[in-house]
Amino acid sequence: MKTFRLTDGVNIPALGFGTWELTGADCSIGVASALEIGYRHIDTADRYGNHHEVGQAIKNSGIAREELFITTKVWHSDLEHPKVLESVDRFLSELQIPYIDLLLVHWPNHLISIDETFSAMAELQAKGTIRAYGVSNFTIHHIEDVMAKGCQIVNNQVELHPSFNQMELKNYCDSKNILVTAYSPLGRGAELQNPTVVELSQKYGVSPAQVILNWIVSRGIVAIPKSKTPERIKDNFNSLNWQMEPQDIDKMNAIPQSDRLLVTDWQEFDY
Ligand code: NDP
Repeated sequence: MKTFRLTDGVNIPALGFGTWELTGADCSIGVASALEIGYRHIDTADRYGNHHEVGQAIKNSGIAREELFITTKVWHSDLEHPKVLESVDRFLSELQIPYIDLLLVHWPNHLISIDETFSAMAELQAKGTIRAYGVSNFTIHHIEDVMAKGCQIVNNQVELHPSFNQMELKNYCDSKNILVTAYSPLGRGAELQNPTVVELSQKYGVSPAQVILNWIVSRGIVAIPKSKTPERIKDNFNSLNWQMEPQDIDKMNAIPQSDRLLVTDWQEFDY
C-alpha cells in the first residue's frame, strides 16, 4: 500500500477504512473484512461508539500492532488538557491497543484554547502513547489561528469528494506541510452517479468508487472510504492498482462544486 509521510518516522497508508455509522456486528464484520482484504489503516472516533468492536476485530485478526495504523478522535467537548489525557486512557482500553498512531481533534471548539489541547497531545506523544496528532474539520482560518499560537499541525481530516474538492484548503495545507485526509470521499455514495465519474469508470473499466479514490490519492490526499459490504470494501482497496492519466485528473478537478454534505449543530466553519 502506498503511504504518505505524516511526521519524521511516521507514514500513513494512503487508503484507510472508515467506520462512522458502523456499530455492532456490521462494524466487527466490516473491520475484519477490511483487515483480511489488506487494509492496515482504520479510522474511528470516540463519537462513533465503536472502539470496542474495532479493537476486538483488530485483536481477532492477529495482525502485529506495528503493521497497523489506527486513527481516532477526541470529541469537541473533551479538549481541555485533563479531559484529553482521560479520554486517551479510555480509548486505549476500549481499542485494546498500547498506543494510537494518529489522534485528531474531531471538530474545532473556539471555547477551548488549542494550545491546551495540543500540550496534552504533545505529552502523550512524548510518552509514546500516540505517534502523531492533528485536527479535523479545520478551515484555513482555524489553521491560521493555531499557527499564530506557535502550534504545528501535521494532518487535517476534512470532507472532500468530487463536488467538494477543497482545492483552496489543499493548496494552503500544502504550503504549510499539512497532509490532508479526505472524509466522506464518495460523498456518502452520492458521487458515484456523477457523470464525469461514470464516464471515466467506463473508460478505465473500473468502478465509479475506484475512479474517485484513485483521483483523491493522485492529488496526494489520504482517503478513508467506509462500506459495510465486503465486495465494496475490496473494490475500494483495489482502487490504486491502476494509473489515472493527467488529463483525466484535470477533468475530475473541473467537476462543478456544490455545498458541503456534512452540516452539524456544532460546526464552526463560519465563526
Ligand atoms: P463515504 O463517502 O465513505 O461513503 C460511504 C457510502 O458509500 C456507504 O453508503 C457505502 O455503502 C457506499 N459505498 C462504499 N464503497 C462503495 C463502493 N465501492 N460502491 C458503491 N457504494 C459504496 O462516507 P462516510 O461519510 O462514511 O466517510 C468515510 C469515513 O470518513 C467515515 O466512515 C469516517 O471514518 C470518516 N468521517 C470523518 C468525519 C470527521 O468529522 N472527521 C465525518 C465523516 C466521516 P455500504 O456501507 O452500504 O456498502
